[in-house]
Amino acid sequence: MSTETLLAPPAQGLRSPPKVFIEDLPRHLDRPVLLEGWLVAVRRSRSLSFLVLKDRSGEVQGVCRDELAASLQGLNPESALRVQGLARRGRPGPHSAIEIEVQAIDAVALAQAPLPLQPGATEEQRLDHRYLDLRHPRKQLIFRAQSSLEAAARGFLLQRGFLELHTPKITAGGSESGAAVFKLPYFGQQACLVQSPQFYMQMAMAAGMDRVFEVGPVFRAESAQTNRHATEFTCLDVEQSWLEDTGALMDLAEALLREMLSAVRQRHGAEVMRSLDLPVEVPETPIPRLPLALARQLNPELAGGRLTHQAEQLLCKHARELSGHSFVFITDYPAADRPFYTRHRDAASGQEGQGAPLSCSFDLLWRGMEIASGCLREHRHERLQRQAADAGLDDQALSHYLQRHYLPMFRHGCPPHGGFGIGLDRLMMALLGQPSIRETSFVYRGPERHVP
Ligand code: ATP
Repeated sequence: MSTETLLAPPAQGLRSPPKVFIEDLPRHLDRPVLLEGWLVAVRRSRSLSFLVLKDRSGEVQGVCRDELAASLQGLNPESALRVQGLARRGRPGPHSAIEIEVQAIDAVALAQAPLPLQPGATEEQRLDHRYLDLRHPRKQLIFRAQSSLEAAARGFLLQRGFLELHTPKITAGGSESGAAVFKLPYFGQQACLVQSPQFYMQMAMAAGMDRVFEVGPVFRAESAQTNRHATEFTCLDVEQSWLEDTGALMDLAEALLREMLSAVRQRHGAEVMRSLDLPVEVPETPIPRLPLALARQLNPELAGGRLTHQAEQLLCKHARELSGHSFVFITDYPAADRPFYTRHRDAASGQEGQGAPLSCSFDLLWRGMEIASGCLREHRHERLQRQAADAGLDDQALSHYLQRHYLPMFRHGCPPHGGFGIGLDRLMMALLGQPSIRETSFVYRGPERHVP
């Protein structure tokens, strides 16, 4: 039997009614509609047959006349159907307030049974069959919200004169540490996948583009298997010239974030509340800015060295208690803990500092994890060269690339600049209270998984 089986054709000569998403049915009451979706279930009562259909926007129940009831036999759940009918006010129940008086059913693609995903499937099984895992409006809400988030970011940045760039994802240079990159053969040479577009964003600053952004993939060969790390994720990177202090960069980051989260609240807030029982939080600005040294004074539990994930959680908890904010910028990290290109604080202010230098840098924490990171970049060639040497980069294979392609950009009038990166998969995790980045990546990549 062909999968294109017309079970009950519409009457000859009738034009097909307009395609309608299930969520839009209330606007089509008492009118003929065409629904395209997947069979959830078939139910029979003594006198009537019912089908439940889902599409990306919701579920609806259809009531079938006697002659259609037989046609429903043999249709397995997840079969793709076109259903024509009249939208009517529904009876009370778990589905939409509307129901469909079904007039025709077109089984477009039958689903084989049994389905490879059953209720109670493990995370691994769900990720193996992601196309079925995602075939539910509640799961797809994550990606609809992410799409709105990105559109809002684009609108905000374009309106402020930022250019959207597409930078290379294959490069000869590694990361600043030479670690955690995916290496690949490149016509007899070695290349790697970029860890961040930052080098190229800085090139745009040296080229006089003034302000740019990119939404794109970045790759980290990190073996850490946490709920927050992926080996490939999507980053929104923003870079701006003629900046002399981190405050302006944080102003930009928080205004951008506010715009993005407001868009999600406006477009999806009600659905997020209904499906996930969570309000979409939009931060009041300014977001508190807490220098790391002060954070340590206020939180004696925080150990020295780099902030651990537990430390990030503790800082978020304390920030909330102190300011009512669930967002907090942690600023002024020791320069030794940040990448060599980060501008040092005393260098930025023109005052030589006492003790170990601090950096003009920040991380933005939300709901116990880092969602963004930014800094002013050192744009003065001599200082940058010194910082690279102090970081021990002149001893590594990377140094050739640095000497040849990175450092020269700062010899010919590169303006002061800075930027930040927001990890979108992580932002979605925090925003929608998801337990793992595996849920907010469309198709997750981790050390143990590079399929499907
Ligand atoms: P972390 O310390 O949490 O591993 P990082 O300091 O390495 O993060 P950056 O290099 O500053 O992160 O990257 C910018 C942003 O990208 C981070 O703030 C975070 O939102 C996101 N990010 C970083 N690493 C990952 C990863 N492995 N998977 C998903 N998102 C990530």
